[in-house]
Amino acid sequence: MSEEKNDDELNAKLDNAEYISKLLPEVFVSTGDVRKFNPVNIMDSMVKEAGLPRKEAKKVTELVVRRIIASGIKFLSGPHIRELVCSALSELNFEDERKKFTRIGMPIHDYEELLESKYNERAAEYTAPENIHRWASGQLASEFTLLKLLKNDQARCHLSGDIHIHSLRYFDMRPFAQSWDLRLILEHGLPPMSFLNFTVAKPAKKATTAIMHACKWLGFAHSEFAGEQSYLFFNTFIAPYLKGLDYEEIKQLAQVFIFETNQQYISRGSHIPITSIVTTPKIPTILTDIDAIGPKGHIVGKYGDFQDECNLFFNALSEVYAKGDARGKFFAFPKHKVILNSSMAQDNDFNSLIFEESAKMGTPIFINSDVSWMNADNYLGNFFNNKYKEAYLNEIDSKDLMNWKKHYINIGALQSVSINLPRIVYEASSDLDKIKEHLNKKMECIRDILLIKQKVIQRLLEKKRLLLCSGEIDGEPILNLKRQALVFGYVGLNEMAKASTGYELHEDQTAVKFGREILNYMLDLCKEYSSNQKSFFTLWEQPAEFATYRFAALDHTHYKKKSESILNGNKHSGGVYYTPASHVNYKADISLDRRIQIHKDFADRLQNNCSMPIWLNEDENNNIASNFRHTTVKLLNSGLSKFCYNFDFSLCFKCNTFQKGIVNSCKNCGNNDYLKNLSKITDYYTTLELWNAGKRQEFEDRKKLSL
Ligand SMILES: [Zn+2]
Repeated sequence: MSEEKNDDELNAKLDNAEYISKLLPEVFVSTGDVRKFNPVNIMDSMVKEAGLPRKEAKKVTELVVRRIIASGIKFLSGPHIRELVCSALSELNFEDERKKFTRIGMPIHDYEELLESKYNERAAEYTAPENIHRWASGQLASEFTLLKLLKNDQARCHLSGDIHIHSLRYFDMRPFAQSWDLRLILEHGLPPMSFLNFTVAKPAKKATTAIMHACKWLGFAHSEFAGEQSYLFFNTFIAPYLKGLDYEEIKQLAQVFIFETNQQYISRGSHIPITSIVTTPKIPTILTDIDAIGPKGHIVGKYGDFQDECNLFFNALSEVYAKGDARGKFFAFPKHKVILNSSMAQDNDFNSLIFEESAKMGTPIFINSDVSWMNADNYLGNFFNNKYKEAYLNEIDSKDLMNWKKHYINIGALQSVSINLPRIVYEASSDLDKIKEHLNKKMECIRDILLIKQKVIQRLLEKKRLLLCSGEIDGEPILNLKRQALVFGYVGLNEMAKASTGYELHEDQTAVKFGREILNYMLDLCKEYSSNQKSFFTLWEQPAEFATYRFAALDHTHYKKKSESILNGNKHSGGVYYTPASHVNYKADISLDRRIQIHKDFADRLQNNCSMPIWLNEDENNNIASNFRHTTVKLLNSGLSKFCYNFDFSLCFKCNTFQKGIVNSCKNCGNNDYLKNLSKITDYYTTLELWNAGKRQEFEDRKKLSL
């Protein structure tokens, strides 16, 4: 009797299970299969992926199964089940677990928009198959960082526009920017380390090969970094290969290098990797008695023995930059950075090709070697020039870390995060103590984000996930974390001063005084963090093409009243923006001297990447090389640390005429349909139609000068 009863119960249970199973839909598995829906799988994955206790996971599963049955749905996909589970997790207040369990990516609509659009305003790039994939995967990686790597309050800080994590899409995998020591490749070949997948070339025997290796390494490096890739003292390190070559041959090499670096977009869609070279007509004293690496990677004397070749190559580069490409168009990359001082520039023997390049294209960015912290002998690129660098090196017991004689100096930054400065005043009112309190909190938030990034990269290096960066040369990793800065950027010191003092930087000395106070405060914090954390934290002028607009647009929405009189631009069209870093408002109608005076004040405090842009109009005077020589000497004498001249151009696609100025019709063929306008968005040229609304408005507002 009891056995019969048991059988009946069991049969009933089985019938029930079969019955319920019939109600459940089939599932399309993304790896390629169709299976019957099994609720246990949901429960298991919630325990495994979101760390939910089994008991709670059961509760959520029940809710989900009930809904699936009630809906009568016949087929389900993996993503669909996940959406249902996330909705149930949310409903039952498992918010952290939902974050861990959710999918990342983008709505179909957004992807379709990427496929259909002509360009991506946010990335300032044209559409191309490779770019679309990069943007889509960038979205995925950004969400991963915000959901998984950062804490809730850190992610919120970025999303709300208190701060801006630059190149967020690369946060989980790539260091930011790097200056490379070319000797690494010249001495060890390309790539300098061995890996199964690479074809390895021996050190270059001839100049052409050395140049090609230099180009390719920039391409290699771009596959592992997020930002600018640079060569310090480029012409000095190439000089030993040029022995015995005549000027025409040297010019040919300069041409190869510049064309090749600009055409590297073949591997990155239509996106040209950001590159730069730092050159100087004279070999820096610090390198003169260092062993010179020449053909086959052999030592061929000291760099001081190759002064003539160094100088010839310097001039050849300028001549190529000034001539432009097949259409006479400038080379946007590599950015041409030139270390110069006033006595060199005034010297009658000094070749004026560099000033012709300035007059024609505006490509040189001048670095003033008369300024002690920019001096050619201790210049270390964008991040490592400031005063407390020595204290940091002492602190980590690595005094020789930046010694060219003892090491390859590969130096750069892991990550940059910028602060929205004006918002601090909107939130804290004008009380300086309160402002500092708010600023302190934002700085701490950024410091912690930067430390997370450092850990992420350290782990990838240890696991050898970054093949190039984790390669070792002479027992030292190619990317030595001690030589990688953690960088604070900032946006809108000018508007912050205005919100607090009522004046912009150029309007009254109280604004400048306020600005000094803020910069000093941030610098002191960086110094303190460096010492406490034994990592190099530094403040720099982040160009912030996007954040200058994003911060302003968000403040216009969320701090409408307070920001109303502070924001630049057109509030009706949405083309609003803040002034980059501590720059003087670009629309300020003041003399060049006055602009220099204020710029210098902040630059000398900051001592990192402080480039003053000089916007020029189409006046005839701005075509004459001698005017540029004269002004450059004056600017170098004034102690301005870094500056560049910038023009606007138009390019006709019908007849390929490249012309100065923004024109409505081509001066050659008269066509007005096939014109592209170009200008420098920050310190490099790009097409205006790609700019975001804020930058476009800033472009309209720029006060342009005649020399
Ligand atoms: Zn034309």
